[in-house]
Amino acid sequence: MTNILIPNVLILGGTTEANALAKTFAEQGIAAVYSYAGRVDNPRPQPLPVRVGGYGGSEGLADYIRDNAITHVVDATHPFAAQMSRNAIEACRATQTPLAALTRAAWAPQSGDNWNHVPDIAAAVEALSCDARRVFLAVGRMHLEDFAAQPQHIYLLRLVDDPDSLPLPNAEVVVARGPFTEADDCALMQRHGTQLVVSKNAGGSGARAKLDAARVLGLPVLMIDRPVLPQRTELTTVAQVLDWLSHP
Ligand code: NAP
Repeated sequence: MTNILIPNVLILGGTTEANALAKTFAEQGIAAVYSYAGRVDNPRPQPLPVRVGGYGGSEGLADYIRDNAITHVVDATHPFAAQMSRNAIEACRATQTPLAALTRAAWAPQSGDNWNHVPDIAAAVEALSCDARRVFLAVGRMHLEDFAAQPQHIYLLRLVDDPDSLPLPNAEVVVARGPFTEADDCALMQRHGTQLVVSKNAGGSGARAKLDAARVLGLPVLMIDRPVLPQRTELTTVAQVLDWLSHP
């Protein structure tokens, strides 16, 4: 008789893709736990059991996998959550647990786009060593401190939570959660007088609007390219994850 492995999946989440996967798993009765880092005050509720907070590095994650009889890990974290993704690769290797990344294609420039690429946040900060401009700094809350090295600019920040304090002296904060529209982002940037957009190459549709708005308004974009990760199985749709689960 063949042993059939009943999946018990760990979803490393915090993204639209992870949310879509959780919904499908819940609908199909696939056992899974949804893992949040705990970065935002009110994470979206999920139709699956949720755990919040770090594991304590790759070894902590390996312990969690063993202790909770996790059979598969789906790394559906953001393309810039490189530390978590590296930890997942190491922990799955150590525990011999099948791992797949559910990810999204990087954005590519279209005709009319004016993008300057930089390899990482540090290079983006360096590229802002110029006279004061009005900058839409769309990099999320975690990296704002890096840009404190360029305090001369007037920044527009769009954040999920209202920050208690900001490391930037000249900043206007808009508290909002995507998805956003091109029309709304055009209006936002026009109101702020934005001259430059700084963006991580997150990919996906929810945050693309600011790039479309920049093209419409003829604004340059400083595009921070994705971190490079070790080789891993990469899937782009929920259907592919279901297929992988049945034939890992
Ligand atoms: P990161 O730098 O790669 O992770 C730093 C540490 O945070 C990890 O080593 C891990 O701590 C913990 N962690 C990260 N994601 C986790 C998860 N899903 N569940 C449990 N612990 C997690 O990650 P990050 O860039 O801070 O991103 C944190 C979360 O925000 C992720 O869920 C990601 O999907 C989401 N997010 C990130 C971005 C972005 O631009 N980076 C944008 C949107 C959403 P331990 O080492 O202690 O396990």
